[in-house]
Amino acid sequence: MGLKRYLVGVYAVAAWRKQRFIFLAVLLLVGVVGFASFSQSVSGGLTVYQMLSDFQDQPNGGNGWLRILTFKPNSDVVEVETFSPFLNQFQDDANSKFSLNYELNGSQVFSVVVLPDTQYYSAYHPEIFMNQTRWIVENRVERNIVFVIHLGDIVDNFADSTQWYNSKDAMNQLSYSGIPFSVLPGNHDFVGWEENKLSRYFLVYGPQEFLNSAYYGGSFGGDGFNNFCKFAVEGNRFLVLSLQFNPSQAALEWANSVIEANPDCNVVLATHEYLGSSGRSAIGERIWKTTVESHAGQVQIVLCGHFNGENSKVGGIISYNSREVLRIDRLPIDL
Ligand SMILES: [Zn+2]
Repeated sequence: MGLKRYLVGVYAVAAWRKQRFIFLAVLLLVGVVGFASFSQSVSGGLTVYQMLSDFQDQPNGGNGWLRILTFKPNSDVVEVETFSPFLNQFQDDANSKFSLNYELNGSQVFSVVVLPDTQYYSAYHPEIFMNQTRWIVENRVERNIVFVIHLGDIVDNFADSTQWYNSKDAMNQLSYSGIPFSVLPGNHDFVGWEENKLSRYFLVYGPQEFLNSAYYGGSFGGDGFNNFCKFAVEGNRFLVLSLQFNPSQAALEWANSVIEANPDCNVVLATHEYLGSSGRSAIGERIWKTTVESHAGQVQIVLCGHFNGENSKVGGIISYNSREVLRIDRLPIDL
């Protein structure tokens, strides 16, 4: 499926407002071994927000924590919340509740929900995964949830079909409700590049599963491992670019071509491994160098999961406290 298919999709809107890709927002710097304060700034730069979300070492395989990104055009911010429908709780610390400056058109408030590693839910707690997507369906109208992004490690063991069925049951609650979503394979979701079209990931989440989804734009090589979706709210046009764990150079070049073919879209880049305990991992650095950096301004948000045990304080020194504390951080970044 290619661009043409998307263009006739229901999300194509005749008159987009001119996007404002050139930002005069502050430039937020992140060091290699720690971060600078969130408020440290250099004027005239572009901003890319990089956000790690990973809760898998919390009780019950993650306790159902997810992220809610609420886009507020009237104040040009994205408010990030960390919520568990399973616990019916929010986290309110600085790594869990914060806002990002983000230029938006129109006035309609809308939300995007991010599902970090669900591997242990698919394996051991399918009811928590079901609970997450049920909450999304039930809150779709109230929060105007327009898209859901999965960050990979959908399952714990790629060879266990039951885990895939469990994940599909949960994601089907979105499909059946017509809520657009994207997926990508994490390292637990496949065994090797050569098996892409033989993988269970392909069978369960390949492009054929999105044939009736006008928002699904296509994938590199047709296997769904690297794919893109689109959605729009008023004059805000979004491209969600989902890249597999450790994407090949060819996949990253494909990603670049998709970004460049859609200059009127804000890009949210989702991938499995990107940030580690002290900034970008080697894989993340390669994605940054090949794709993000050269498209900063159009790529404004990078989302990732994968790593356990990161703990950070905004404005403080990053620390690595393996397992017990909080497994989320964000790196306000960088150019
Ligand atoms: Zn992983």
